[in-house]
Amino acid sequence: MTTATLDPATIRREFPALEQSINGRPLVYLDNAATSQKPRVVLDALQAYYENDNANVHRGIHELSRRATVAYEESRAKVAGWVGAAEPSEIVWTRGTTEAINLVSTAWGLDNVGEGDEILISVLEHHSNIIPWQLLARRTGAVIKYIELDEQGRWILDELPRLLTDRTKVVAISHVSNALGTVNPVKRVAAAAHEVGALVLVDGAQGAVHMKVDVQELGVDCYAFSGHKMCGPTGIGALWARRDLLDSMEPYQGGGEMIHFVGRDESSWATVPHKFEAGTPNIAGAIGMGTAIDFLSGVGMDAIAKHEHELLEYALERMNAVDGIRIYGPQSPDEHSALISFTLGDAHPHDISTILDSEGIAVRAGHHCAQLAMQHFGISATARASIYLYNTESDIDRLIEGLEQVQGIFA
Ligand code: PMP
Repeated sequence: MTTATLDPATIRREFPALEQSINGRPLVYLDNAATSQKPRVVLDALQAYYENDNANVHRGIHELSRRATVAYEESRAKVAGWVGAAEPSEIVWTRGTTEAINLVSTAWGLDNVGEGDEILISVLEHHSNIIPWQLLARRTGAVIKYIELDEQGRWILDELPRLLTDRTKVVAISHVSNALGTVNPVKRVAAAAHEVGALVLVDGAQGAVHMKVDVQELGVDCYAFSGHKMCGPTGIGALWARRDLLDSMEPYQGGGEMIHFVGRDESSWATVPHKFEAGTPNIAGAIGMGTAIDFLSGVGMDAIAKHEHELLEYALERMNAVDGIRIYGPQSPDEHSALISFTLGDAHPHDISTILDSEGIAVRAGHHCAQLAMQHFGISATARASIYLYNTESDIDRLIEGLEQVQGIFA
């Protein structure tokens, strides 16, 4: 049942991995932006599928194949509902966000982007939303342009009219930054991009996880996201794209499942979305992602967003009081998702992470696959604490104790 508030203590009990101790201390898991933990219902769904229904989808005319196909397609419908797709066929299963972006940059890009055309991305992007476009540019002779960042890591949009031209073919931007936590003004950029006729792809790896997403409301053309960051299994994710766009695209990979008829010289393709799903898919993963969506819907995305926001405010307030800390990204919690990227005095982020790990606290340290954003700040790495529905104030208190230890060692 959807509720306005959430009790993290009750929620935590659904996540077996959170029940362990690390280095003699109860685990505090604050690396959710990398991947989330999995609730028991998702683990059970994976096991039940393999124990009872394991068969290949869309192929066998027997009971197990029928069951597997029904569960697999039901999950697709859940994913479609999750982001407000017009119909389930607008959802293509992929390995995750990375593959979804590569699908568009390859299958759409190679036919629609040519020499001298422009691709607009931002300096804040994850490498998954930079490299596929660099590969496309290299193959086609297109040019990449960048939305620059201000001192808080926000997009500088005054430049947008100059950046968008009649050569701009695609604008590929992230909904929420995994490096800084910035919630980006995607809707505004999408509207401007459409005025010059560009395609708008959104990297939603950190978006659909924490907030209700409605792709129609955002006014975008493609939205890519991963199951493993939203309580689902690894190796599964989705591309949402408008049906007419998917219909117009050539296949991404060839093989079984994606054909209608195969001849010696010419073959024809299955209808969308199967045209983009060559080979045996990650059936269990898809079912697990559907179960994760049921779980998150049951808790309620509004309740999750509210809980995370309160915890973020608490964490920002407590962390800002730590001597020598520098927090990167927007200072206002209202422009911020539940993720805090920081450095502490002279301590290297890897040292911060190692010391916290010795206290059973998991945070991420590194460039977060966002080297352009790090370069913008003149640093090579930050430490990053990222919050999810099962985190508590006491997790933040433990983090602060850990940071005080780091500070003591490096003072
Ligand atoms: N984009 C962003 C913003 C991300 O945070 C991530 C995962 N760190 C990705 C893309 C890539 O997602 P995946 O590895 O699941 O394909």
